[in-house]
Amino acid sequence: MRERRKGGNKERRCLGCFQLRRKEQLLRIATFAPECVIIDEAQRLGGRGAYLCPMADCLIASVKRRQWGRSLRQPISEQTLTDLLRQLKRHTLWLTGDLQRLWQREAVKR
Ligand SMILES: [Zn+2]
Repeated sequence: MRERRKGGNKERRCLGCFQLRRKEQLLRIATFAPECVIIDEAQRLGGRGAYLCPMADCLIASVKRRQWGRSLRQPISEQTLTDLLRQLKRHTLWLTGDLQRLWQREAVKR
């Protein structure tokens, strides 16, 4: 059993590197319905959520491990992953063309 401090656990695990970090250091991605995945900027939306460091390395690792469908507890199609990438791209400035190609290649494999 992992010890949890009283008064709200503000740490979440990144989908890519599996490090525990404070929520405000992570991006929250929420899902409400199959194939509906959005970035929860304020981290206040309900639904099932997953957290990711805003870093390309973690994004790549999460895609390679097919972590998205597992964490959001539903199959995530290539189209949904591509949409999510588009949102992440708008949200952050660290996605390069190379990363986009890798993302698409990984998404196709599943
Ligand atoms: Zn990470």
